[in-house]
Amino acid sequence: MRYEGDIYRPPGEWRSYLLQATIGCSHNACTFCGMYKGKKYRVRPLEEILEDIDMAKAYYGELTRVFICDGDAIAMPTDDLIKILHKLYENFPMLQRVTIYASPNGTLDKTAEELKALREAGLGRAYLGVETGDDALLKAINKGVNAEQMLKAGKMLVESGMDLWTIILLGLAGAGESETQCIPNTIKMLNEMLPQHISAMTYNPVPNTKLYRDIQEGKFQMISAEEALLETKMLVEGINVPGVHFTSNHASNYLPLKGTLPDDREKFLNLLNGALHGDVHIRTQRGRGI
Ligand code: SF4
Repeated sequence: MRYEGDIYRPPGEWRSYLLQATIGCSHNACTFCGMYKGKKYRVRPLEEILEDIDMAKAYYGELTRVFICDGDAIAMPTDDLIKILHKLYENFPMLQRVTIYASPNGTLDKTAEELKALREAGLGRAYLGVETGDDALLKAINKGVNAEQMLKAGKMLVESGMDLWTIILLGLAGAGESETQCIPNTIKMLNEMLPQHISAMTYNPVPNTKLYRDIQEGKFQMISAEEALLETKMLVEGINVPGVHFTSNHASNYLPLKGTLPDDREKFLNLLNGALHGDVHIRTQRGRGI
């Protein structure tokens, strides 16, 4: 119930109670991300977090969904996270789902047994910002892990039994051939990782970030609407994860898509081809918040 700084959550968590267990992001160095620039990473004292859960009980009475933030709350000590999960399920008997942002490094710092213990304690879903499966691009955006490590982190989360929601960020290599050349590597990674959800978002510049400054200085060119649609089309054609929930309906995207692959592949491709030929309406830059 007490919050420090701006709080971010995945769009699908709009109905969740937001429990701030960590402040900021332990990495806080991705070139495109400005979410936690004003925060110095720290884990809140456990007593404070448990107090917040009691305050939420007094205020809401009952909760069905909880999202644990900030940026990579999974990085906090496993024993403390388990105590938080126990307290949440004790306080809220109707609780159906507890979810969390997971950074790749915060995940890799845990053992497979720790992740399984977290799942058993009721951590149901992790959101992982994969961004891209391309090794060189992961390095360029300073993600803090290479492609092999990102794949390992995702697979560990899946193998723990958690529901894995991956986020891909289109446009991070900028306009031109190098951008589209990254997509096959992203597809390959996702097909090996086997997440339950894939959300494609499109890069929008964020002030006070390295990539924003590169744009201002003419060192980085944003992708066009056509390139974003072509990349989405490549993803839709290439993703081979049975029954995966695929979305590109975030405000940053030109064409909102939401469904399941492979079932909705043909429908998505028809829409994407229609948009590429100008027959299907796409969002304007203003509509995308630029
Ligand atoms: S790991 Fe996530 S929250 Fe942290 S800087 Fe990178 S994108 Fe932002």
